[in-house]
Amino acid sequence: MSLSELYQEVILHHSKSPRNFGPLEGATHLAHGHNPLCGDKLTLYLSLQDGVVHDVKFEGEGCAISTASASVMTDILKGKSELEARALFQAFLHLTTGEGEGPGADSPDLGKLQVFAGVREFPVRVKCAMLAWRTLESALADAETTVSTE
Ligand code: ZN
Repeated sequence: MSLSELYQEVILHHSKSPRNFGPLEGATHLAHGHNPLCGDKLTLYLSLQDGVVHDVKFEGEGCAISTASASVMTDILKGKSELEARALFQAFLHLTTGEGEGPGADSPDLGKLQVFAGVREFPVRVKCAMLAWRTLESALADAETTVSTE
């Protein structure tokens, strides 16, 4: 299976039945994200305990790519430290946009996130894929704000 076929399969699968979807009781961090270009909106709930992501969930409405990205992201974040979460953000940003630092010796394993490299072929979709991550960045900054990818 090629990476682009895998990409389509993951997007389809996760957008149809997103993981970790719904409100999270006892969340310690919360942020709203909005991608006006596409109309994607999401709220990210994060429960951090001793600097580790104990639980993470999201709610919202968006296109297949923004939903799938949030679904895969929340799956991968569980059990990660705040530091690891930030490193994953940087790695994902680089994967989808080429911005920031490229993979180095101590880069995190992107695992299933690799398939989102496919959005590079669709520049307008990068904002959709990044929305959940931008919102995570905002949630980790501990600011209850609305981020916009515009
Ligand atoms: Zn979108």
